[in-house]
Amino acid sequence: TTRIERHHYDVVVIGAGGAGLRAAIEARLAGKKTAIISKSLFGKAHTVMAEGGAAAAMGNVNSRDNWQVHFRDTMRGGKFLNNFRMAELHAKESPQRIWELETYGALFDRTKDGKISQRNFGGHEYPRLAHVGDRTGLELIRTLQQKIVSLQQEDKRDLGDYEARIKVFSETTITELLLDGDRVAGAFGYYRESGEFILFEAPAVVLATGGVGRSYKVTSNSWEYTGDGHALALRAGATLINMEFLQFHPTGMVWPPSVKGILVTESVRGDGGVLKNSDGKRFMFDYVPDVFRKQYAETEEEADRWYTDPDNNRRPPELLPRDEVARAINSEVKAGRGTPAGGVYLDIASRRSAEEIRRRLPSMYHQFKELADVDITAEPMEVGPTCHYVMGGVEVDPDSGAAFGTVQGLFAAGEVSGGMHGSNRLGGNSLSDLLVFGKRAGGHAASYTDQLASRPKVPVGAVEDALEAALAPLQRDTGENPYHLQQDLQAVMGDLVGIIRRESELVDALTRLAELRERVAKVSAAGGRRYNPGWHLALDLRNMLVVSECTAKAALERQESRGGHTREDFPTMDPGWRRVNLVCALDGDAVRLEHKPLPKMRAELIGLFDRTELAKYLTDEELADFDARAE
Ligand code: FAD
Repeated sequence: TTRIERHHYDVVVIGAGGAGLRAAIEARLAGKKTAIISKSLFGKAHTVMAEGGAAAAMGNVNSRDNWQVHFRDTMRGGKFLNNFRMAELHAKESPQRIWELETYGALFDRTKDGKISQRNFGGHEYPRLAHVGDRTGLELIRTLQQKIVSLQQEDKRDLGDYEARIKVFSETTITELLLDGDRVAGAFGYYRESGEFILFEAPAVVLATGGVGRSYKVTSNSWEYTGDGHALALRAGATLINMEFLQFHPTGMVWPPSVKGILVTESVRGDGGVLKNSDGKRFMFDYVPDVFRKQYAETEEEADRWYTDPDNNRRPPELLPRDEVARAINSEVKAGRGTPAGGVYLDIASRRSAEEIRRRLPSMYHQFKELADVDITAEPMEVGPTCHYVMGGVEVDPDSGAAFGTVQGLFAAGEVSGGMHGSNRLGGNSLSDLLVFGKRAGGHAASYTDQLASRPKVPVGAVEDALEAALAPLQRDTGENPYHLQQDLQAVMGDLVGIIRRESELVDALTRLAELRERVAKVSAAGGRRYNPGWHLALDLRNMLVVSECTAKAALERQESRGGHTREDFPTMDPGWRRVNLVCALDGDAVRLEHKPLPKMRAELIGLFDRTELAKYLTDEELADFDARAE
């Protein structure tokens, strides 16, 4: 028989990005024995890569900012499809979560009078992103890790063991959640290096596994982001929402080919960078949609004045929400006004001094110097859209992060959860999302374990099944190579379920995904269990596949364009569709899609918008309801 290492915990947190670490801290503070599991090295998660900053309405740079304005911006960014309660909690609690980080030792950049400095970002009305140069995520992770170490030191002092109540399992991948009936009973996985198996028995699991970008050819995401948490949740009986909404960040590197997709932070535009086509034209002025026209400048002069006098001028159109900018770049390139490498120009060199660029954007300066041999203080960058973030994710209770569906004891926070960002996330709203909902999920997972009358038990059969599934690719002599399968999957998603979608291609995508499903079921990995990336990918593939099926199915179903979902054959927003969440669940192996009405916004929240704005998003029936309530 195969050896399986066993551990017992109260709360198991899968993922060691910002959401996972913040959840683990909260569970441990509630006295729970907590495990943190990460597929890659501890400290290496997307959170570390976050450059721009964390959005929180602290009002440090413009005192007019407050949670109501942040709430409004978030709902507008998401095109009113956001779960309003999540957007409300996020806007209200983000400042506390940022200040709390300072008590853990974070050091954000300062204003002249010593407050946490805040920078401008797309879709945010006021300067709102707390930041550390362009390395904010690194500071966030560093601080959360430091807090964990300090808690471990307390445990050493009180209990004699650093790892008595919080332990990190790095380079450990979870392949299956284990259930006792409908209740979470544990998680099963393997150590990446040794290939040895590991079983966690625990009544509560927090998913904090991040995104799905690796299913796309051009992506800013790194190798771990194969939608594992999304798929684990589905297989455990939870549901996913908003899976048709993917954020294509407008500015990824396009050259050289080896680095295609790597992110160019939005801070470049926030700090004054502008987008130009091959004719040298600043084209974003041609792409301001009606819903945003009032807030954006109409001339270059006004746009440029905004940087120094934001109260009396409107913002530059380069700072429209990401979906708008990505589509605009796509159109310019399609119209033959792209750069040699198939992007557009992003120019900061002619707008800021070399010294300023190096000080405010040090990582970008080095990234271009080292990867592309481009000096961004002297030349423009070449950029184009890259798959960046998934708005869709586990459908959760907004207050607790508890997963919907049939499963109990499962929680989700961060990018793996859905609802908060609606159809499009504003930059900077993810880092604050991680902190707000990571804390909530960790706390609620802890209290869930308190109210259990009996502990769930891991059924022997469930472990045997998980083991068999994990070993299967190694035991097939014939079968396809996982790398070929991944390439084919990435091609289907990139070419047919990408930034601009149409019915015929989505139908085609579903046929091809069905074929891929057969092929993935027979994937074979050469070699043994000891450090074997081919085997790991073979196991990831089934996750990537089911998540991609959800995305393609939902993209075909939603007959409108909104946020991170653009249908060439249904080019406008349809108020009828705004009221609908598409919910994915599994029936056996098959993805099932259901329509579910969005919860109705509370009166005091909808009252934050004026009627003319609401009229752009709501149905006549909803507007009549709004008018009746206002009377
Ligand atoms: P992550 O930080 O992605 O961490 C996921 C964790 O789960 C990792 O530890 C991973 O190893 C682990 N994991 C995954 N699968 C498994 C498994 N099967 N078993 C065990 N562990 C697993 N957002 C902003 O708000 N501001 C920014 O400036 C910003 N810049 C960004 C720049 C880049 C280049 C990228 C890629 C993203 C950026 N984002 C930004 C988005 C933001 O960083 C992410 O959405 C966010 O960090 C996600 O955090 P998370 O805690 O949900 O997951």
